[in-house]
Amino acid sequence: MSFWIHTEGYFSERPHPGPFWIEVDGDKIGEIRTEAPSIDGAEIAKAAFLLPLLSDTHAHVYMSPWPLNPDNRSKPGSGPIEDEARAATARLQGALAKGVGFVRDMGDPLGINLAVKRHALGSAEHFPAYQVPGPAIHRPKKYGRFLGVKRETMSEIHSLIDELVELYSIDFIKVVSTGIVDFATRQVKQAPQYTGQELGEVVSHATALGLKVASHCSGQEGIENNIEGSIQFVEHAYFVRQDQRRRMRDQGQCWTPTFAPVYQQAVNADCGWDHACKQSLDAILRDHNEAVQQGYSEGNKILAGTDAGSPGVDIGDGLFIELRCLAKSLPLVDVLKIATASNADACGHPQYTGRIETGHPASFAIYSKAPWLEISQLGNPSQVYQHGECIHSFTLKDA
Ligand SMILES: [Zn+2]
Repeated sequence: MSFWIHTEGYFSERPHPGPFWIEVDGDKIGEIRTEAPSIDGAEIAKAAFLLPLLSDTHAHVYMSPWPLNPDNRSKPGSGPIEDEARAATARLQGALAKGVGFVRDMGDPLGINLAVKRHALGSAEHFPAYQVPGPAIHRPKKYGRFLGVKRETMSEIHSLIDELVELYSIDFIKVVSTGIVDFATRQVKQAPQYTGQELGEVVSHATALGLKVASHCSGQEGIENNIEGSIQFVEHAYFVRQDQRRRMRDQGQCWTPTFAPVYQQAVNADCGWDHACKQSLDAILRDHNEAVQQGYSEGNKILAGTDAGSPGVDIGDGLFIELRCLAKSLPLVDVLKIATASNADACGHPQYTGRIETGHPASFAIYSKAPWLEISQLGNPSQVYQHGECIHSFTLKDA
């Protein structure tokens, strides 16, 4: 089945001011014309502006981001696994309804990301395209038990990777290579968990199995190891130095800066930080914005990911927070290119290309105003299309 959409403009790597007539042919974009098709009886729908479905390269679907107050948060994943998988599935579907069409999970200790992916693959329901690593791999007595499982020796780590590949449909490997940022002291807690050589061994082992490696990493010492190990996806990288950014660029390493979790700590009183710590959080964000701005201008591959599941960072709404933070460093059109085509190219999910082009999946959302001019449009599409099908339509009554 084919139909046409008459639009005032669309975004595909950059804004394309219209008018255009875009043919949706089955699940793909058929044609894009600058003049009305003269086809008898062709159904033509009017739509203001089209943006490809957005994407998030760093989420933990198993964690609820609420409440903000750490004293009131329950241990993530503490319910029966079926209930947890159902709740995680609902989070992903909620994001799709807001125009997010691809989510990459960054790991959980209970296999909930694997259960969610299994359910999505065997179901007729609508889901964002979804990639998973199973559990992240951390070292014993080190940070990471909320993200994955612990393994000590390199041979244990390689065996776990082999097992994940053999038994589960994983898309990449996730390691926890450092601790987390101490907001008050502006340092990373704990020494790095992996040396550069060890990370290089993980990358070689994963490469032989056809997989890339993502690494939780902050602090100059840990970042150094991630550069030495040629990790493909460097996650967070708070406190990265200029020379380190340049070496990451030269090696083609992707960098997902994940502003949203730190931003939510900085702006919400419920998180419970005192004045001095709040100032420290502001400084961390300012420095990170500066690093991203300079890195992007020098050619670093920046991706858009949220660390959703962190307090106050939802899958969906958290991405709009992340994109607003990125927009403090970069022009909005560049931010949207990152959150669509760049994320897609880096992650390589066959169902998600982040583009509106002939032959690409007809997966986009329709907005009443151009989101590349008005960031407030993000999260408020009037309709969401996935693979040629209108799966959400928000009438005035819903708004
Ligand atoms: Zn994470």
